[in-house]
Amino acid sequence: MKKLELHWQILIGMGLGILFAFILSTFEWGSGFITDWIKPFGTIFINALKLIAVPLILASLIKGVSDLKDISSLSQMGLRTILTYLTTTVIAVSIGLIIVNVFEPGKSIESDTREELVESYGGDAEITRQNAQKQKESGPLQALEDLVPDNIFGAASSNANMLQVIFFAIFFGIGMILIPEKKSKPIKEFFDSLNEVILKMIDLIMLAAPYGVFALLAALVVEAPSTDLFIALAYYALCVVGGLLLMIGIYALIVGIFTKKSPRFFLNGISPAQLLAFSTSSSAATLPVTMERVEEHLGVDRQVSSFVLPIGATINMDGTSLYQAVAAVFIAQAFGMDLSFAAQLGIIATATLASIGSAAVPGAGMVMLVIVLGQAGIPEAGLALIFAVDRPLDMLRTSVNVTGDAAVSMLVAKSQNKLGDPEVKNWDDKYKKE
Ligand code: ASP
Repeated sequence: MKKLELHWQILIGMGLGILFAFILSTFEWGSGFITDWIKPFGTIFINALKLIAVPLILASLIKGVSDLKDISSLSQMGLRTILTYLTTTVIAVSIGLIIVNVFEPGKSIESDTREELVESYGGDAEITRQNAQKQKESGPLQALEDLVPDNIFGAASSNANMLQVIFFAIFFGIGMILIPEKKSKPIKEFFDSLNEVILKMIDLIMLAAPYGVFALLAALVVEAPSTDLFIALAYYALCVVGGLLLMIGIYALIVGIFTKKSPRFFLNGISPAQLLAFSTSSSAATLPVTMERVEEHLGVDRQVSSFVLPIGATINMDGTSLYQAVAAVFIAQAFGMDLSFAAQLGIIATATLASIGSAAVPGAGMVMLVIVLGQAGIPEAGLALIFAVDRPLDMLRTSVNVTGDAAVSMLVAKSQNKLGDPEVKNWDDKYKKE
């Protein structure tokens, strides 16, 4: 019997999860059953992915950096990576701004609806606001200070400190480049094997992906807030979704232009990572799969992917920045504010920075949105307006974040002459054999 391709398996898992939750919630005990007996499997799946993230970054980044011939190749690749990331983020914010200004979704909100929305989600939104306040109170160089850990085990013990782990890995790799090759060989081989073992562990975790996303989606359905006021927000959500889908098209186009690979090749290769990002709402949890897909399906050399992708998962969030731009202007419109051109330019700058600062975990983009709102003088109470629809948008923007990272890794690989043919032509054949 022909086995279904992985992305179909994941899609079916998602669909069945939603269906199962809808059927069970017609029974009184249904939601409790899902929370107690189904949701834990989703949590276990996400935990397993996160578990692998830190060792993966350490092993693959140290190996990737130490494989470079010298420091100048490293800085060349680093510069290209950061510049390409910044460019895609600015494109994303600009698209968001254009869409929200053309369609003006916020203007359709009557003040009664606004009050009602703020009231119903006021409490939860206040917690988000307070979290953001804490971030805002830190000094201007806080981000730089946070980059350098004082203890690598401390940094590695929390997924929130991925940039610190990345810093350590690059620093360690630089040390390896600078010592004689004879001396660095054993440690290089060690990280090489470690990398292989971890990639195999990811293969194993991915076998459970369809079941994991089933559990995640089922839990999401029973925990979703009431849908009464969704209609008022549908227009806004549609603008974000339209922008995000457009962004995926733009990646496929840019990849096509610069690498001559067809959009189908790109989207097929990355689709399991997109679906996983959608189910987990976390680019950090998706990172192991993004790396594997990019290397084995899109033909990006490991030296490039191991450098570009962990950095991308942490700092490149095009979906998040696009959403922040739309959300900020939507809230301004809902409160009857007219934003000047200068204020909108300010949003480009702050949304770019805020998306860089957003952690790669569910809901982080909304926390950082407060900074964009604050900078543009838009009422933070507006967070309550968009709270209800944030989760589905988070799912989609995380998929876009991951797609952006994959696209940039192909561009950087192309510019470094490190883009080849995929190692495994048909990934699912690989599973079939096992
Ligand atoms: N959930 C997103 C991510 O992990 C961040 C966000 O909330 O926008 O990429």
